[in-house]
Amino acid sequence: DPLLEIDDVVKRYGDETALDGVSLEMDRGDVGVLIGPSGSGKSTLLRCVNRLTEIDDGAIYLDGELVTGPDTDVDDLRRRIGMVFQDFNLFTHLTARGNIVLGLRRVRGLEKAEGERIADEHLAQVGIAEQADSYPAELSGGQQQRVGIARALAMEPELMLFDEPTSALDPELVGEVLAVMRRLADEGMTMLVATHEMGFAQSVASQVTFLDKGRVVETGPPEKLFEHP
Ligand code: ADP
Ligand code: ADP
Repeated sequence: DPLLEIDDVVKRYGDETALDGVSLEMDRGDVGVLIGPSGSGKSTLLRCVNRLTEIDDGAIYLDGELVTGPDTDVDDLRRRIGMVFQDFNLFTHLTARGNIVLGLRRVRGLEKAEGERIADEHLAQVGIAEQADSYPAELSGGQQQRVGIARALAMEPELMLFDEPTSALDPELVGEVLAVMRRLADEGMTMLVATHEMGFAQSVASQVTFLDKGRVVETGPPEKLFEHP
């Protein structure tokens, strides 16, 4: 089985068709990049994969199991699929460590001390061990996004989704987040990334998918799609 199989997915918002029969497959270790203009359906597609959005037609499978069925255990699914958001989605009243511990206790049922130990490991993994006790407002955007990535990694997900993870960052902070993502890819993490960063797509993706108006217009390895005649 592929790790992720998106099969002919349709999503409508009223009269608006956000996804118009999208199919996509990813194997373990693949890095998929979604490229397309604003409004083309990238964010909607990612949100359908972890059930933040419900599809209208088609199906999505994770490791051969139906994700989009009525009996799917959505909490378990969200543990298995980590999501990184454009605007970080951190709790402002919790420290970097606290943001990660919260999920570990709620989702993985860990004791506080064990949660803190694991949180610190993942903060170190993304290069911000020293900021464990800082609140989001005390961190740069790049550091906040790295907390967001560490929080997702702490769940030990099988798949990571990134929804324009660098779009809210000042240009000088984009590189540090892409570097963390590049390292995860090198370590074999399966990732599906919506981004406008063409350099990342060209150099890290195993598969690039162009979306327009909710349809896949092209998909393939970057060396094929970005080749210049
Ligand atoms: P992208 O991530 O590529 O910018 P989106 O997935 O955010 O695209 O949006 C795809 C289309 O669906 C757009 O036309 C957008 O306006 C619409 N859309 C997205 N979310 C909603 C929503 N919650 N309600 C209504 N329309 C939405
Ligand atoms: P992005 O393009 O970065 O994915 P958007 O700015 O399109 O993000 O959407 C941000 C939020 O607003 C999302 O939760 C999305 O579902 C919602 N949204 C987007 N378009 C619409 C719309 N036309 N009507 C209602 N909600 C929308």
